[in-house]
Amino acid sequence: MAAQTVASTTNSASAFPSASVADTAANPVDLGPAAALSCRECGHRVPLGPVFACEECFGPLEIAYDFSGHDTEELRRRIEAGPANIWRYAPLLPVPADVADKPNINPGWTKLVKADNLARELGVDAGKLFVKDDSGNPTHSFKDRVVAQALEAARAFGFTTLSCSSTGNLAGAVGAAAARAGFRSCVFIPHDLEQGKVVMAAVYGGELVGIEGNYDDVNRFCSELIGDPAGEGWGFVNVNLRPYYAEGSKTLAYEICEQLGWRLPDQLVVPIASGSQLTKIDKGLKELIQLGLVEDRPYKIFGAQAEGCSPVSAAYKAGHDVVRPQKPDTIAKSLAIGNPADGPYVLDIARRTGGAVEDVDDAQIVDAIKLLARTEGIFAETAGGVTVGVARKLIENGVLDPSLTTVVLNTGDGLKTLDAVASDTGLTATIRPNLESFHEAGLGS
Ligand SMILES: *Cc1c(COP(=O)(O)O)cnc(C)c1O
Repeated sequence: MAAQTVASTTNSASAFPSASVADTAANPVDLGPAAALSCRECGHRVPLGPVFACEECFGPLEIAYDFSGHDTEELRRRIEAGPANIWRYAPLLPVPADVADKPNINPGWTKLVKADNLARELGVDAGKLFVKDDSGNPTHSFKDRVVAQALEAARAFGFTTLSCSSTGNLAGAVGAAAARAGFRSCVFIPHDLEQGKVVMAAVYGGELVGIEGNYDDVNRFCSELIGDPAGEGWGFVNVNLRPYYAEGSKTLAYEICEQLGWRLPDQLVVPIASGSQLTKIDKGLKELIQLGLVEDRPYKIFGAQAEGCSPVSAAYKAGHDVVRPQKPDTIAKSLAIGNPADGPYVLDIARRTGGAVEDVDDAQIVDAIKLLARTEGIFAETAGGVTVGVARKLIENGVLDPSLTTVVLNTGDGLKTLDAVASDTGLTATIRPNLESFHEAGLGS
């Protein structure tokens, strides 16, 4: 169902929703250019509010904008003169105009690294391969982008507690944003996450609750809590604030294009957990085309999963439109969502743009982490091993074109998943503090 409905949209953004005046008038809050919530399945529109499912068909709601009357060159000037963080794109996000003045974690404007050494190893033409390195965000993952949006929505709707279900990175991002903004935070994670992620989430002083179960169990629990009086006044960034949260991923698309000189890349390799990030990168690219900020030409989006949690990749390879849930078992815990909410939309985008969805096993993930580190000096978390590993596999299989401009996403920091590489990295030698011992170890030039 989902895949069929979305299949009618195109790269040229002709199906981009535009709001009527009536929608805007009905909104109780000011969230800038955001005009309404619109159902991704049936198109039904409702005023902006903390809701995430369509009252008509239970489809997922997303933000529809009113970009009418914009002046492309004026918009470009305003963006370029903006702060070196995601708020430079405030005119394209569901936030009030004065958002930059409020306490937020201000993520974004991370490096787009020209990866010529990696390109040489992978057989990609010189100057054509880039790594968008989101480990440089305040809590060292891409999740700061989405949480920054959700925080503004929480403020607008009068929530005082920020919450989420998390595979790890989101917990830290919510903890930090809540601390900075003076919100209470109470976040829920699977009890067996990497120590780096647990410490990173706990250090901000909010409440952190381990659930005996996997991410999908945690998520189900949060949905229950929303309907209970105990969860009243709580903004769950990835549940009841999900439409706003999700828009944060568009800033990855905006930054990549601006950093390429207001140009679309030809190919993008994007990790998939729930699939939200991938679908919103596509939405962001379509908006830039619609607004005239980039030239309209084809781009391909490739999704990347770990073999131990590859429900979308499996569906893609089988030619299915529906995604069959899996029980995750992989070192890429940040991507370990066995029942990805945006799975069908990801399948549609990969097929519509001429991309693909591929997966790599845990050993290939570790190899790819080490490859990226030794070629470009970037230490990625396991999710970055997944995208680099999948890029390598797609090049080897002749699916990714090595002569085209390609951007591979690294969405998190290797310091959070040290265990993944700790067992086969370490000291080259241990010597006594004298030259004789140094020479014995064969380390001289
Ligand atoms: C959450 C996450 C993603 C992608 O998440 P989606 O649910 O697909 O939007 C990618 N990389 C890292 C490191 C993450 O934490």
